[in-house]
Amino acid sequence: MRHPLSREACAERDATDPLAPLREQFALPPGVIYLDGNSLGVLPAATAARVQEVIAGEWGRGLIRSWNDAGWIDLPRRVGDKIARLVGARPGELVVADSTSVNLYKVLSAALHIARTDSPSRRVVVSERSNFPTDLYIAESLVEQHGMRLELLDIDEIPARLRDDVAVLMLTQVNYRTGRMADMAAVTAQAHAAGALALWDLAHSAGAVPVDLNGARADFAVGCGYKYLNGGPGAPAFCWVHARHVERFRQPLSGWMGHAAPFVFQPGYEPAPGIARYLCGTPQVLGIAALECGVDTVLAAEALGGMRALRAKSVALTELFIELVRERLPGSGLHPFGPAEAAQRGSQVSLAVPADGSLDGYALMQALIHRGVIGDYRAGDGSAAHPHLLRFGFTPLYLRYVDVFDAVQALVEVLESAAWREPRFARKGAVT
Ligand SMILES: *Cc1c(COP(=O)(O)O)cnc(C)c1O
Repeated sequence: MRHPLSREACAERDATDPLAPLREQFALPPGVIYLDGNSLGVLPAATAARVQEVIAGEWGRGLIRSWNDAGWIDLPRRVGDKIARLVGARPGELVVADSTSVNLYKVLSAALHIARTDSPSRRVVVSERSNFPTDLYIAESLVEQHGMRLELLDIDEIPARLRDDVAVLMLTQVNYRTGRMADMAAVTAQAHAAGALALWDLAHSAGAVPVDLNGARADFAVGCGYKYLNGGPGAPAFCWVHARHVERFRQPLSGWMGHAAPFVFQPGYEPAPGIARYLCGTPQVLGIAALECGVDTVLAAEALGGMRALRAKSVALTELFIELVRERLPGSGLHPFGPAEAAQRGSQVSLAVPADGSLDGYALMQALIHRGVIGDYRAGDGSAAHPHLLRFGFTPLYLRYVDVFDAVQALVEVLESAAWREPRFARKGAVT
């Protein structure tokens, strides 16, 4: 019998993988194993032609008529309805707009307003200390404006902190560093039991793991278009508000596209009914056109079992990676950092760089990228508790089991040859 961790065994799994045909939807460059879809998804094969058509046909020939004739004005809601299918939202509940940071500003502001109206004594926003920094920076600004306070805790300390002074619990469902995934339904229920609202950032969830916003009775959510949704660099993001809250507050960026009648051009603001009030300015037509192509690559899995099937393959890929690292890299000092249980793991695995300084994680990743294995590096403080990380995202839409094998093989070679010590791999670019 073949060793289950052999390359041949991996190739056999690919040959019988029902999701394998989904890879053909992408324009993957030859010679690259892409393990960074958690930061920037790959280019769908359909995107270039679609965006070219929007440019040459809808814009070039249709000109301003395309706002109606090509349905540009409906893009935020139409593509929002597609994303809704991936996150357990109903049609009409989710819109595409702006960036994740800006959408977080809108929904957190609404959440704080609701909390202050319903229970003025609640003055604390709770989040995770290692949440993605932009989320914390936005929250910092808003709590200051509202005369409230932001409290940052380790994820395990949060349930005990949910007392009667907490207005909002703001979490990213899958932690960007560790890949640890929160149980949205259980944590939302804990927040509600304590009288707090639950706001979720789905940046590393949408298109990566099954999400059921309505099933979890979440209050607010935002998410990212350019990660697992493959919308392209700087793709527009999305926001969702539970039906019970959506009409309660006019979000603070009260632009004309969120007005009840934008083309009446009246001087006073009147919020549109429903989620449309969370729009601000003119939709980014080219960006949303590209995003739609990306979202379609995920929706293509619906006929093959949908997010549940993608999740099963994602778990299989991350488990395989962890097993291969354990078997092939003993004694390197690199070790999986994050949840050991697959059920608590998003679609990524991080390897911690040893705290003794024997390896330079940044240079190691650069040497891997030079060999065509693209992941990324996230600096910590270098301690055992907050180590520097090599981060690998596993997108089941286009990754094969042999890719996982070959990626670990490349890591073995980079370590054995000490190629990472070459000075060129230590040079840092502006984006890391
Ligand atoms: C990627 C990511 C963002 C990105 O925000 P932008 O506004 O698109 O720059 C925000 N929050 C989290 C948790 C992320 O992972």
